[in-house]
Amino acid sequence: MRKKYKVKMPTKSTLKNRKTTINNAFVYSIMPWEKLNEGEYKNICEKLKIKEDQCAYCLKENATTMDHLNGLVNNGEPSGFYTEKNNLVPCCSHCNSSKGNKTFENWYTDDKCDDIGITKEKMQQRRKIINEYMANNPAKKLNLKNILGKKDYEKYISMKNELLEKIEECEKFCEELNKKINTQK
Ligand SMILES: [Zn+2]
Repeated sequence: MRKKYKVKMPTKSTLKNRKTTINNAFVYSIMPWEKLNEGEYKNICEKLKIKEDQCAYCLKENATTMDHLNGLVNNGEPSGFYTEKNNLVPCCSHCNSSKGNKTFENWYTDDKCDDIGITKEKMQQRRKIINEYMANNPAKKLNLKNILGKKDYEKYISMKNELLEKIEECEKFCEELNKKINTQK
């Protein structure tokens, strides 16, 4: 049936779509989190050649978030990068959610120009500036297996996997109950 109204139906929350949240939370909860001070923030904007409210990627003056240049999660495991000044850039919420856990290199490509509203020429300039910035201000990367030791690191990963499997089990059971309810309502 074609939708004739403009309002959105209530979101159907599922256990399945909480898995990414759990995965991310496992990473964020062990990694350091270093808040920027005003001077550090201004310094980042200066080096990235943007105004203080400008998005580093699309240049719109609506930056309300900070993006991790190097994502904290890689294939479901911690990448080793964390929240610290060399890994943070001002970003609008649209660019931030579009980038997600992708790397700058893989995300900031010509085919994203229309989506984020920037010309190819401008993007080329920005790519150069941001790549230079990353080379001159390398983000810190921790080797977690060395810091934690193999035993604790493996325990950490298996605890997370156990939780994800449990969610899957709960989800299947809930689906069965949902079917039963739907047939008897
Ligand atoms: Zn943006």
